[in-house]
Amino acid sequence: MKQNTHPQYQVMTLTCSNCGTDFIVGTTAPKGFSVALCSHCHPAYTGAQSIIDTANRVSKFMERQKKAEAMKAGKK
Ligand SMILES: [Zn+2]
Repeated sequence: MKQNTHPQYQVMTLTCSNCGTDFIVGTTAPKGFSVALCSHCHPAYTGAQSIIDTANRVSKFMERQKKAEAMKAGKK
């Protein structure tokens, strides 16, 4: 029979990087993992309308909009 075929299963504490809630999870990931959102802070669960701007995409878009408005105003 083959030896060492199963990954190491471990129970660890996982923290949501958005709201800081701790969860106890079972995983085979050796270094564990992280989550950006969880059921305590995701808009689908909370019902709150909020923008999750993890890569600053929304703020970059807003900046471009401001520049475009400024260019339009300059032309007139
Ligand atoms: Zn969360």
